[in-house]
Amino acid sequence: MLHAFRSLVSPELSIVQILPQADKVVLVARPKATESCCPSCGCRTGRVHSHYMRRVADLPWQGQVVEIRLHARRFRCADPQCRQRIFTERLPETVQPKARRTARLGESQLVIGFAVGGESGSRLSRKLAMPVSGDTLLRMIRTARFEPPDAPRVVGIDDWAWRKGQRYGTIICDLCRTEMPTRSRHG
Ligand SMILES: [Zn+2]
Repeated sequence: MLHAFRSLVSPELSIVQILPQADKVVLVARPKATESCCPSCGCRTGRVHSHYMRRVADLPWQGQVVEIRLHARRFRCADPQCRQRIFTERLPETVQPKARRTARLGESQLVIGFAVGGESGSRLSRKLAMPVSGDTLLRMIRTARFEPPDAPRVVGIDDWAWRKGQRYGTIICDLCRTEMPTRSRHG
């Protein structure tokens, strides 16, 4: 579900610089935290191994594409017994490891993909300054995770028409839900 309120930037990041360009707005950002947790052993550490630049697409600003140039860090695990000697910093509220878009941008693109599909969703996303390819949208739809629905208490079985008098399908629904599907009448 989309968040009711979204801050202009992720609360995990500090914006260092805003660089308006002809085709997009570039936000140069740094993580706020001084420490990070090792993904293998959970040990907190502030021992920075190295820095690298990461480019991540974010939600648009006033119809402009937004790119975050993130000064990302690699840390050394503080536990000498840990098999993960070096790890990249995790920013769970902002972006998944190796992802090229923020979680909130991916969420919005996924809603578009589910509503109108791959290629149509790609065209709509481009219009909304959230460009994504049709293939990527389809991949996002296939790998999306959902909360399992509540088990129905009263099951209803009905039929409905793909084309009246020619082709019918069967629908199984939860009769306790308030939003019921429209029932087709036989032609
Ligand atoms: Zn570790």
